[in-house]
Amino acid sequence: MFRDRGIEIKTREQILAMRAAGLVVGRTLELLRGEVRAGISTGELDAIAEDHIRSSGATPSFKGYHGFTGSICASVNDEIVHGIPGDRVLAEGDLISIDCGAIVDGWHGDAAITVGVGTADAELLELARICEESMWRGFAAAKLGGRLTDISAAVEAHVRATSSYGIVEDFVGHGIGSAMHQPPNVPNFGRPGRGPKLVEGLALAVEPMITLGKQDNHTLDDDWTVVTDDGRAAAHTEHTFTLTPQGPWVLTALDGGEAKLAELGVTFGPLAD
Ligand code: MG
Ligand code: MG
Repeated sequence: MFRDRGIEIKTREQILAMRAAGLVVGRTLELLRGEVRAGISTGELDAIAEDHIRSSGATPSFKGYHGFTGSICASVNDEIVHGIPGDRVLAEGDLISIDCGAIVDGWHGDAAITVGVGTADAELLELARICEESMWRGFAAAKLGGRLTDISAAVEAHVRATSSYGIVEDFVGHGIGSAMHQPPNVPNFGRPGRGPKLVEGLALAVEPMITLGKQDNHTLDDDWTVVTDDGRAAAHTEHTFTLTPQGPWVLTALDGGEAKLAELGVTFGPLAD
């Protein structure tokens, strides 16, 4: 591992360790997707996540992070990110985003999904769908030798082309590796062709946060939960990925991103163990 202007460049072995962490995160989120239902509390989801992460031989990275008490962030409806899991009970029609991170042998994975509770409103499900799709467009736009904001521009372009949703600007994706949050920032908007060059060994978490109404937001008195100012719903989707000579490899996706990238005409780039 070496650092190029603060950006951590991983070796092949370190990327493989990040894949192990990414799979723990991906499996935990798929487990939680199946547990989301009206009547379950966000604290119960958190307990399921922590148990699954620890029984996988990993450590939940959120727990204790700057004093955060959960192993997941659970952000419901107008909550954009960083919701603290607890007594809140999910209701039919809610929209919940679940963010999760895990550490294996010192290497991090970070991902998030947004899920409707029961029969959520079509408008909310569309918000979640476009959020996720914009993230994939970001991966599809990432190429070795390209620039970081190629990702940002692709995320923004998809949201703007398909909706009038807000794109949250106050929170961004990030480099990831031996720590959860590292340089560089990965904004979800902006012009392409700028920022650090995309090179092998770079790992980034791409995480669009989009809103039904305006993107303006504030943090609640709990010092964590970020909510929309207008009270309208938000969605948040995240994966950790890297680039190999073959293409993007989505470390927190169970299939490495193969299916979704193929849909977008992009070959995925797994490293062999
Ligand atoms: Mg996250
Ligand atoms: Mg993140």
